[in-house]
Amino acid sequence: AGEDAPQALTDGFHLLIDALKLNEINTIYNVPGIPITDLGRYAQAQGMRVISFRHEQHAGYAASVAGYLTKKPGVCMTVSAPGFMNGLTALANATTNCWPMILISGSSEREIVDLAQGDYEEMDQLAMARPFCKAAYRLTYAADIGIAVARAIRSAVSGRPGGVYLDIPGAMLGQTMDAIKGAQSLVKVIDPAPRQTPAPGAIARAIAVMKEAKRPLIVIGKGAAYDQSDDVVRELVEKSGYPFLPMSMAKGLLPDTHPQCAAAARSMALKDSDVVVMLGARINWLLSHGKGKQWGEPGGKKFIQIDINAEEMDSNVEIAAPLVGDVGSCARALIDAMENEGIAPPKEWLDQVHTKASVNMEKMASRLQNNSTPMDYHAALGVLKQVINEQPETILVNEGANTLDLARSIINVHKPRHRIDVGTWGVMGIGMGAAIAASIETGKRVLAVEGDSAFGFCGMEVETICRYNLPICVVVFNNNGIYRGDGENWGGGCDPATTSFVPDARYDMMMEAFGGVGAWVKTPDELRQAVNAALTSGKPTLVNAAIDPAAGKESGNIGNLNPQSVVAQA
Ligand code: ADP
Ligand code: MG
Repeated sequence: AGEDAPQALTDGFHLLIDALKLNEINTIYNVPGIPITDLGRYAQAQGMRVISFRHEQHAGYAASVAGYLTKKPGVCMTVSAPGFMNGLTALANATTNCWPMILISGSSEREIVDLAQGDYEEMDQLAMARPFCKAAYRLTYAADIGIAVARAIRSAVSGRPGGVYLDIPGAMLGQTMDAIKGAQSLVKVIDPAPRQTPAPGAIARAIAVMKEAKRPLIVIGKGAAYDQSDDVVRELVEKSGYPFLPMSMAKGLLPDTHPQCAAAARSMALKDSDVVVMLGARINWLLSHGKGKQWGEPGGKKFIQIDINAEEMDSNVEIAAPLVGDVGSCARALIDAMENEGIAPPKEWLDQVHTKASVNMEKMASRLQNNSTPMDYHAALGVLKQVINEQPETILVNEGANTLDLARSIINVHKPRHRIDVGTWGVMGIGMGAAIAASIETGKRVLAVEGDSAFGFCGMEVETICRYNLPICVVVFNNNGIYRGDGENWGGGCDPATTSFVPDARYDMMMEAFGGVGAWVKTPDELRQAVNAALTSGKPTLVNAAIDPAAGKESGNIGNLNPQSVVAQA
């Protein structure tokens, strides 16, 4: 070509899309609007999957769950100020759960925002985002997109994964540059989450603790599920012979039906164990901070902890043998070092765990058989347990209070990363975003078991489910309220109780309104039929399951976290 031939141009829109695609990020969870409407359209035009939601929080939850399931950052894209803030909740939740996610938000004119001159949706988003994520970056020049996206990806997935914010001023998207120079400016991230092996001394220290163990236990957390070293984890459990307890989202990493699973003897195992190996699980509120009654005699435990984040060690209790690294590498090193060390738990301990577990499982089994009308939680969950046993490839999403606590202990999970729930914060409203991401990322059937309150936070996304025709079956446990449906107005007025909803609400008709299948069921048989039909057809379905309004417990299993008024009780 001659010197004065017109140069091919690229621009911020296209560079951003090309940078994501170069790094094998092919899906965006999106809510369109100024200034990113066309960015979504161009992304779709360039072959990306763009899933547009009705509210940014759910697009964000979906992106975070995509990150959890794939080990690549899930991308959520939003408009400025209010849309950005809606997405920020999900970004903070991703960071709290240690899931990689990138929130890309459009923002208003920098020079107007910085002089506080009152721009359309004016907000200093970069400063706002910082406390809620691992890293926050702003792009001023299109020429920096390549390096900014690379930095965002590496920040999200390396070390302890988390949320990253990328601020995209609208004006930057329109900047043009020479197409060849643009392509050269892109960066493909090499080894974004390097494996990390602990030093031999740290392994020897752990082996010494294991050799002394009389009543050992392994606790497996969602960090281990995230790591995807499923075979190594199984080998560690089986070679050591230790009983194991899965945290809720680690259920299925080894099947809940595995002979070493101690889930049904959880309280006893935590209390009576003397050595506990933590595998990608934090000793936080979900484990009573490693202290108190639940953990037996003070000082009676030694902890070995495997975690990618060194600062996690000694966060709540002393860690006798810290192993800092990824679960796969640490578990591998432990297995190799265990050879010929005679590590095997005493038979009395294994018998004690088995006996307790069998007694508890029998008690539970009889409660699941009941045919009560209205259904209680156990009757309904007995049905769903059987459905998942028969179709173990189905991904289970679960939120609510009683609906969460009881489903967690009743429904067995058989495959790794096949249970997604409220996570570290116990947040309500993750259900539809999680279900959509699970379906999009895996192509599998999804069963979302939702309390009616939890569903209310994200219910509008059933339209998204119908629009993309996703094989998701939502079961709403409808007990007419929060915790219970039979609450009273403590002031005696005619307003409903603060925790009550419209009784017998027809959530099933919401799904029908958008072209999906709805079913209103009142018995275990009707529930079974409706869910099986949904999983067979793959059609978007909402099963509205009537649950006894008097069956629930205040705050489910965590009622102890409610502060009590001394004054009111006097
Ligand atoms: P759970 O809620 O299931 O107990 P947590 O979210 O509390 O799990 O803990 C997960 C832990 O796993 C976090 O401390 C995090 O740093 C760690 N983690 C995340 N990814 C990895 C990995 N690849 N290898 C090791 N540890 C990891
Ligand atoms: Mg309810």
